[in-house]
Amino acid sequence: RRTKRHAYLRADGTSPEEIRSGEHLARDMREALGRNEFYLAFQAQVDARTGETTGFEALARWHHPEQGPISPEIFIGLAEATGFIHELGRWVLIEACRKAKAWPWPLRVAVNVSPVQLESPDFPLSVEAALAESGLPVERLEIEVTESALLGNTEQVVLAIDRLKALGVAIALDDFGTGWSSLATLQRFRFDRLKIDRTFVERMEYDTRSLAIVRAVLNLGYALDVPVTAEGVEQLGQLVALRQMGCTEIQGFLLGRPEVEATLVTMAPWNARSVAGMEDGRGGGA
Ligand code: C2E
Ligand code: MG
Ligand code: MG
Ligand code: MG
Repeated sequence: RRTKRHAYLRADGTSPEEIRSGEHLARDMREALGRNEFYLAFQAQVDARTGETTGFEALARWHHPEQGPISPEIFIGLAEATGFIHELGRWVLIEACRKAKAWPWPLRVAVNVSPVQLESPDFPLSVEAALAESGLPVERLEIEVTESALLGNTEQVVLAIDRLKALGVAIALDDFGTGWSSLATLQRFRFDRLKIDRTFVERMEYDTRSLAIVRAVLNLGYALDVPVTAEGVEQLGQLVALRQMGCTEIQGFLLGRPEVEATLVTMAPWNARSVAGMEDGRGGGA
């Protein structure tokens, strides 16, 4: 089944092993779905004021039989390049909706969608099918799209977003701030949520420019009346600052890691004594 080993190095320096692993992975991926090697992990999204879990983001995972866990950064890219993303994406949608259907009301599920999926005229239909097959009420589904998906602003993508919105599916703008056309995108589409990219959150405590950007995005969300979720929250200090600046929702390892069983955040870190003290120390509340 394996291709013959190439006995040369590519001009770009890619080793034969690297070339092979990419080719192999792409091929293995097609069989992996049928062999149940894909699964979803769920990471809690938490209300920044109450500490209650409002929903979970579904994150695709692939456990390769020989190579072990493969990062989604790698296999999603490969799936996009080979067109397999359509099949994988349909599976992610239906699996996420099925799982969410069993959660207590009104917990929602957020599903990541690739730009390639959005370009397909069938995409809105596959969302409808996932809702119908799972029985998940539409208001409990959110689709996360990245700016790159909307960059072309192609007719197909505009139609897809409008169709989803008409269905009642919420649309979140993921990794906000890392794309090229942030403001034009905000002008054109009525998002139901903005997600501040983790790179800004990561640096906000020691880099005043990152902090200023986070604050500006929160203000923008407030002005547009769109809730803002901060992703990648790992430190207590980040959490405290985000709450004080009025961030709507928080997601990150500090609250919970992605897990196979969707796990409610049971104790909001800011309800711990030490945190209460910290917030008082900084003065003012959210
Ligand atoms: P994303 O949608 O921005 O997802 C957030 C990523 O940040 C996830 O990585 C998550 O595990 C990670 N993360 C969450 N909290 C923290 C934190 O506190 N610290 C750090 N360092 N990381 C945190 P993951 O699961 O590796 O996914 C990476 C990307 O792959 C996702 O970024 C998303 O763009 C893509 N992806 C994952 N699952 C799917 C899928 O089902 N479909 C599509 N199209 N893309 C997916
Ligand atoms: Mg996401
Ligand atoms: Mg994100
Ligand atoms: Mg991100």
